[in-house]
Order: sequence, then C-alpha cells, then structure tokens
Amino acid sequence: MSILIYAESAEGKFKKVAFELASYAKKIAESTGTTVTALTINAGDVSELGKYGVDKVLKVNNDKLANFTAKAYADAIKQAAEKEGAKIVILSSTTDSLYTAPLVAVSLNAGYASNVVALPLSTSPFQVKRNAFSNKAFNITQIDTDVKVLAIGKNSFGLVESNGAAAAEDFAPSISDADFGVKVQSVEKGSGKVTIADADVVVSGGRGLKGPENWGMIEELAAVLGAATACSKPVSDLGWRPHSEHVGQTGKPVATNLYIAIGISGAIQHIAGVNSSKVKVAINSDPEAPFFKVADYGVVGDAFQVVPALIEKLKAF
Ligand code: FAD
Repeated sequence: MSILIYAESAEGKFKKVAFELASYAKKIAESTGTTVTALTINAGDVSELGKYGVDKVLKVNNDKLANFTAKAYADAIKQAAEKEGAKIVILSSTTDSLYTAPLVAVSLNAGYASNVVALPLSTSPFQVKRNAFSNKAFNITQIDTDVKVLAIGKNSFGLVESNGAAAAEDFAPSISDADFGVKVQSVEKGSGKVTIADADVVVSGGRGLKGPENWGMIEELAAVLGAATACSKPVSDLGWRPHSEHVGQTGKPVATNLYIAIGISGAIQHIAGVNSSKVKVAINSDPEAPFFKVADYGVVGDAFQVVPALIEKLKAF
C-alpha cells in the first residue's frame, strides 16, 4: 500500500495544508510500512516536503496548469496515483481540492471520504472519522474499495517534522485539451495579506461595524496578529468587503487556531462555517448575541472601543 498526497502550492510556494497532508500521510505510512509520494504542480523548490515526511516528489511543470482547472488537475493526480500504485490518495479541503478530489475518486474507481478530521481509526477495514452536518456531528465512514481517496479537513492534523529528504523526479502527465472545458482565465487576488485558507488567525467583521469605512481597525488588528481578514455574508452582500472574505456555511469554511468575530451575531449559518476553529472569540455589544454560546472567550462591549484598545495592548506586547 503506497500513499500519494497532492501538495498544493500558490505562486510557487507550498500552502501550509501541503505540510499538514505530508505529516498525516507519514503517520499512516509509518504504521503500515509504506512510503509517501507527493505530487506537485508548478511548485518551485520542493525540498521542504522532505522535512514533513515525504519520501519522493513527482514534480509537474506545465504552463497549461498555471491556473487551477479541476479536471486537468484531477487527471494529473490520477496518473500519478497509477504510476505509484497508490492505494490511498490524500488531498486537502481547500476549495480547489474539494472540486478535484471527487473527480480523482471517480477516475480511480475509488471510494471517497471528505472532511476527514483524524488519522484512520483502522486501516483494515479502512475507517475514518469525518465531520458531518456542518461540523455539528462526526461520523465513521468505512471505505471498502481497493483505492481510497480522502480530503483532510484543514487544521485537523498538526505539522510533524521528520529528518527525511525527498527525492524529486520530473513527471509529465498527459493532459488532454478536453480537460479544459471549464478554464480559469485569470486570478484576481482578494484583499488582505494572508489568505483565509492559509491563516492561523482570522479577524472577522460583521454588520455591527456599521459600514466599510470602519474596516481600518479590523485590518489593523489583523496586521498586528498576522491574521487574515474575513466577514459575514451580509457584509459581502452589501459590498462592504469582497466576496472572497465571506465565511460561513455558504462562504469559505474556516478552521483556524483563533477566530475573532467582531460585531457578528452568530447566526447558525455563520457558525456552521467557522465552528471548527480551535479558539473562538466574540466581541459584541449585545450580551444575548448567539455567538457567545459557542465562543471560548467573549467581550461584551462596543467594538469601536474594544478593538482599538486591543490593538494598543497587542502593540505594546
Ligand atoms: P447581524 O445579524 O445584523 O449582527 C450584527 C451584530 O453586531 C449584532 O449581534 C449586534 O449586537 C452587533 N453589534 C452592533 N453594533 C455593535 C458594536 N458597536 N460593537 C459590537 N457589536 C455590535 N451568514 C454568514 O455570515 N455566512 C454564511 O455563509 C451565511 N449563509 C447563509 C445561508 C442561508 C441560506 C441563509 C438564509 C443565511 C445565511 N447567512 C450567512 C446569513 C445569516 O443568517 C445572518 O443573517 C448573518 O450571518 C448575520 O450577519 P451579521 O452577524 O454580520 O449581522
């Protein structure tokens, strides 16, 4: 049984999830006596992967794959899995990989489990624990097909460093023009220096901030914490912030180490998308705001007083 991970990168640099997947796969490899191969697509320097347990890297460099295209990426992953004889193929739960993973599973005739949140409970039979019902419950899923495809939830598994060095090999999968029926033509970056997908800390603002002109303090707090900025759905619907920042059930899922919700009531659809964050902090002037029911820490107060005071304290730290 060999294991293939797809190590995601952006602009030639690995995303943190690539190292999480490597660490996760290495643990399975150690317990089952096999090796970990990583597929990279236009990733630049791949040596870092060895530090997280990858034994071998299949490097794809192909201008056609410069922008993410689900079918083409799925084809590359499928061919890498076949070349390596991989029995477990592991992707992350980023938006891109959640498009790709089911296509990979279908093409390999494999069983597929998404939102996996822990190491397999057993490898024979193969059983994994998954988040279900917008992270309100877990289920145990058994995959009985020869090849298994998993999508691992972000921050479900910490980084584990090992002393290894990965051997790199060029790999040129045959990508058909038919794979580009739907093609991303260009990518426009959202605001914020840190992307929500890569962030360990997210500072998120809601309608309680009254208007886009008040986002300066949210951006400042995010800058002090090295955090990404996010917002509730109405805020992006109103055009106060870009849609790329909308988090929740119908927006981006957030599973960070720290999520700070400022002037966000905590509607069920918002909580559903951010509940997997390890520590949740709410700042809200209404002590009855539902967010306080799920928050680990809460500040009842006016955001326009609390946030500047918090920034000042953090800067003095
Ligand atoms: P509000 O509910 O208006 O809350 C504003 C909060 O700010 C209040 O709690 C108030 O007490 C507080 N406040 C006011 N002034 C201050 C102040 N000075 N200082 C501190 N606090 C203050 N929403 C999402 O966010 N993400 C989703 O993915 C999403 N998907 C949805 C899908 C469906 C099908 C539906 C029906 C709704 C969805 N929603 C989603 C909308 C959701 O139901 C809520 O309407 C929304 O989350 C509320 O946004 P909010 O908390 O910013 O605004």
